[in-house]
Amino acid sequence: MKIQIVQDDITRLRADAIVNAANSSLLGGGGVDGAIHRAAGPELLEACRKFNGCPTGEARITPGFRLAARFVIHTPGPVWHGGTHGEAELLEACYRNSLRLAAANGCRSIAFPAISTGVYRYPKAEAAQIALRTVRQWREPLPEEVIFCCFSAADLDVYQELLK
Ligand code: ADP
Repeated sequence: MKIQIVQDDITRLRADAIVNAANSSLLGGGGVDGAIHRAAGPELLEACRKFNGCPTGEARITPGFRLAARFVIHTPGPVWHGGTHGEAELLEACYRNSLRLAAANGCRSIAFPAISTGVYRYPKAEAAQIALRTVRQWREPLPEEVIFCCFSAADLDVYQELLK
């Protein structure tokens, strides 16, 4: 398994699956969620409606519609409430459940944004540590390539520092 760290807009990536840091309604929002819905087109919202939402830490898969990616995996990350409300376990569950869905759908590559580190305020270094650790310790079938897609140069630094 190859781990790649890139700085990009995740909607432009050609991975088999891109992960959406959704909210539990799965009906779209701001940040990366809004960008993915805009780029995928209105069919994505129609596909998401059928789930009737998704609990934090779980994941759901849809086609990518107008995206280059074949699939979008939607996972609501935890809102940061200081770290004593199960945030780390929930964030890890987001990565695990996304990896599991990608493998079950034959994805050879999957791209993750920095789940929960935007409006959900999860501290960036701690979140990146969980992301990298969960992928590295994964023992079930994995996509061949896991891409961590950083939106900002600062986020890129955080991941590159941890990958060393
Ligand atoms: P959350 O609600 O899970 O915190 P946000 O979308 O607010 O989700 O932020 C999650 C991360 O996604 C942040 O690091 C933010 O900078 C990043 N992000 C926002 N837009 C994009 C995009 N188009 N591609 C990749 N990452 C993005």
